[in-house]
Amino acid sequence: MPQQKNHSYDVIVVGSGASGGWACKRLAEAGLKVALLEAGRLQSDRNFTEHKPAFELKYRNRAPEIVRKTRPIQVKFGVCNEYTFNWFVNDLEEPYTTPADKPFDWMGRLRVTGGRTNVWGRVSLRFSDWDFKAASFDGHGENWPLGYKDIEPYYDLVEKYVGITGSAEGLEHLPDGQFQPPVPLTCQETFFRNRVKEKLGRTVMPARSANLTKPINGRGPCHFCGPCERGCMTHSYFNSAFTTVADALNTGNCTLLSNAMVHKVLMDPDRNRARGILYIDRNTHHAREIYARTVILCAQTQESVRILLNSATPQHSNGLANSSGVLGHYLTAHVRSGGGSGEFPAFGARPSLGGPSKPLGIYIARFRNLQNAPPYKKFLRGFGYEGESSAEFNWKAPGFGEAYKKALLEPRTSIGITGFGEVLPRWDNFVELDPSVKDIYGIPVLKIHMSDGENERAMIQDMSDSAGEMLEAAGAKNIRTYAHPSAPRWALHEAGIARMGADPNKSVLNQFQQTHDIKNLFVMDASGFTSNPCQNPTLTIMALCVRSCDYLMSELKRNAI
Ligand SMILES: Cc1cc2nc3c(=O)[nH]c(=O)nc-3n(C[C@H](O)[C@H](O)[C@H](O)COP(=O)(O)OP(=O)(O)OC[C@H]3O[C@@H](n4cnc5c(N)ncnc54)[C@H](O)[C@@H]3O)c2cc1C
Ligand code: SF4
Repeated sequence: MPQQKNHSYDVIVVGSGASGGWACKRLAEAGLKVALLEAGRLQSDRNFTEHKPAFELKYRNRAPEIVRKTRPIQVKFGVCNEYTFNWFVNDLEEPYTTPADKPFDWMGRLRVTGGRTNVWGRVSLRFSDWDFKAASFDGHGENWPLGYKDIEPYYDLVEKYVGITGSAEGLEHLPDGQFQPPVPLTCQETFFRNRVKEKLGRTVMPARSANLTKPINGRGPCHFCGPCERGCMTHSYFNSAFTTVADALNTGNCTLLSNAMVHKVLMDPDRNRARGILYIDRNTHHAREIYARTVILCAQTQESVRILLNSATPQHSNGLANSSGVLGHYLTAHVRSGGGSGEFPAFGARPSLGGPSKPLGIYIARFRNLQNAPPYKKFLRGFGYEGESSAEFNWKAPGFGEAYKKALLEPRTSIGITGFGEVLPRWDNFVELDPSVKDIYGIPVLKIHMSDGENERAMIQDMSDSAGEMLEAAGAKNIRTYAHPSAPRWALHEAGIARMGADPNKSVLNQFQQTHDIKNLFVMDASGFTSNPCQNPTLTIMALCVRSCDYLMSELKRNAI
């Protein structure tokens, strides 16, 4: 029998990542009593190793097969390595399943305070009405139940706190924000930017990224040491563990329960209300209950929906908040398997070992299917590119002795770009519970069904072709392009399986991420995205979350919840 606790909170927040951190900060700073349930362990500056050389590690960070033994999926993305592996889920203990013909790599499953923001790539871009109202422009899918003006003040608020470096470019479809000074482009990147604008009219800009160039709130500016995914002792990139969660805890109104693996939302047997959470203590495997007036799920898209599906009751037999039958459907991520690279003149750049390493590069704004231009014939929506220049030693130089040493120092300078494209929401991309598999805590796991459609395949090919076109326009040499199928998918931007909408028959959440069915139950991560535009999602996750928290507080004030 679960052990009963007498604690009662105003709000329970599940998950301490990008969304959960903001929910706790916003609500605790307003005076609400918040319980933060986080499946992972505590994060601390002591775990950060961004300055630790590989030769100090047992396996010199050269033995992925050791990490692969417990994390065969997580290790596929390089940020899970000998430095960081114990921040990630043990894939054997917490599996998921897929149909044999639809492989899906669910990477970036963190189990530590801060969630994915410990290791994220930090690219932070606004959506525009061209995204929120895309269905009105091209007829596919549904519009979001909110528009740019609704979220704009929250983008401002979040950007000022998080600290986003970037340049104003005046693009209507990629709105400018409250930027810190941009990190300057390298000479190669500037050359590429100018040539691409001049010859093709496309916009290449310094990446908009959550790395500080000016100090804020006791956090220091980035000193370009490079491997942000190992943590940052100066707190120069945004990780909710040392920003939003720390602020929430400092109020004295927020209690963090680590190693609390949430199994289900508990419903009041007499009323249509959530009354709390059943979770498993990961250390003891004991079940525990905790109660609150409101429950907010922020556990990451698939994890939150797994909790809702596992919370079925006789009254809600196909999962909580699922009267529409839509829960779990319309899974989207990004396709990022097309791009290219080419060599550029060195412009005096010299390779170095252990020199300053810029942790961000360039972003190329979407240029397909925009307003005031004819629709692109091959696919709907669009993609942007992330990329960077590099200057490497010429390790492959031929010869021996003096000649080799000289040739080695001749820099190999190149630019590489990778497309990030929108995946159209489709009913047949979905998650469900696998009735035959449980994790080591006894919680049923997800079965994920996801594959590319025609639109994605055509987009990936264009990512490759357009990369070649831009590199050529900029005069690159030895251009190499690629277009791979995107399954197993690895874009890490999953969204949309508890979609927002105005119509409760076709959606799970309203525009404030409140479930249509249960007024005191919210899902404030990317589950609610009605579509998944090509811009990286996290800035919008955070802005939406703050907006929804403000709505929640106004509803609590007028006793409407
Ligand atoms: C390598 C990598 C690079 C990325 N790069 C970018 C980028 O450049 N730009 C961008 O916008 N986005 C990027 N992302 C995505 C970004 O990190 C996520 O969009 C964002 O962190 C999602 O926030 P979230 O709150 O939904 O989930 P998370 O930040 O993942 O937090 C979820 C938390 O919930 C906890 N949790 C899960 N299940 C349970 C449970 N049952 N009970 C209790 N707790 C639970 C987890 O332990 C975790 O701490 C990247 C992600 C990765 C992994
Ligand atoms: S590169 Fe900058 S943000 Fe990244 S770990 Fe180093 S100091 Fe921190």
